[in-house]
Amino acid sequence: MPDQFRLNWPVDNHTVNQYFGENPDFYAPFGLPGHEGLDLFAPANANVYAAADGQVYEADHPDNHPYGLQVRLMHTVGNQVYRTVYAHLAQVFVQPGQNVKAGDRIGLADSTGNAFGSHLHLTLKLDGAQTPGYPAGVIDPWPYFQTANPSNALIVYTTEPLNLRSGPATSAQVLTILARETALTVLDNVDTARSKIGQANQWLQVKTADNQAGYVAAQYVHLTGQAAPPTTLVVYAADVLNVRAQPSTNANILTMTTSGEALTVLGDIDNGRARIGQQGQWLNVKTSAGFSGYVAAWLVSTTQPSPTTPAQTLTVYATDILNLRAQSTTNAPVLASITAGQALTVIENDLAAARAKIGQQGQWLYVQTSDGQRGWVAAWYLSENPV
Ligand SMILES: [Zn+2]
Repeated sequence: MPDQFRLNWPVDNHTVNQYFGENPDFYAPFGLPGHEGLDLFAPANANVYAAADGQVYEADHPDNHPYGLQVRLMHTVGNQVYRTVYAHLAQVFVQPGQNVKAGDRIGLADSTGNAFGSHLHLTLKLDGAQTPGYPAGVIDPWPYFQTANPSNALIVYTTEPLNLRSGPATSAQVLTILARETALTVLDNVDTARSKIGQANQWLQVKTADNQAGYVAAQYVHLTGQAAPPTTLVVYAADVLNVRAQPSTNANILTMTTSGEALTVLGDIDNGRARIGQQGQWLNVKTSAGFSGYVAAWLVSTTQPSPTTPAQTLTVYATDILNLRAQSTTNAPVLASITAGQALTVIENDLAAARAKIGQQGQWLYVQTSDGQRGWVAAWYLSENPV
């Protein structure tokens, strides 16, 4: 764990291209176990700032030096001496002996020396320290960034189990899977990061409580963490669905949903969530009308279907006073009384089959009234034409 010494971002863009110790194969020919610093994204001529208060002890381009044009700062903290090295610069604005403050502009980024493209390479040294295999004093700068400006730290929380990735893309390697409501410290500029929260196609660079750094999709984090996890899970019917008395296709149909209807999952949410979309699994749900029963889990999703093509509807009219019943039988409880001429919307998957039942003795149709009540009506008291 780092002591009091902290590093501020030495460039405006807070994107790490290469961490300390990465790419051992590439660095083996140079006698290094891996990358000996931190590569930060920096276009040519991007400003480079002092990462901490200190004094310049070198600002030049030694012949054939792999770091090219560089600035070296010394930072004395108590009885410890840290050194930061800013490599591959285009220009420097400081000279040896000069004192600088954290955030002072000291140069411009480029790719001088041994660099494939413009970026800022930052090396951190601590006099007397030794990281196995690396030159004397060289240490990993990254932990010193983590808690820089703790008062400004932005903490976000995952809204669902989320992948922590090695880069800002869904193609990047998954480093770990974060549990729901995991607290993450944002490493990007706080204001920029704040504007990304909840947004699709945006990424946040974060670190976990145990200092694992990576990227998460900004869409799935929020600011209010530690709150009670969601107590309700809502799913949407992918089609007109049967709501059954038991989790079986043989069980009685209690009611039907409309396509896209929101259903509240009953019972354990995590258990319910795990079943969504799974063939052969059932979900215990409550409909908007208050019916509780079971729907096929493979026919629901967590995303509300967009109303692209309006669903085809079939409207029928009562030819007489008739009963709206709980089941498709004259013995079933009466839910409501339908007046002659009242319009009813048929809720059935197969509207052609439903249409064929209209006016037929012994046939029943599942309908919804204009005030949202649903039930079964005798098809022989229905007409497709307004009465
Ligand atoms: Zn580098």
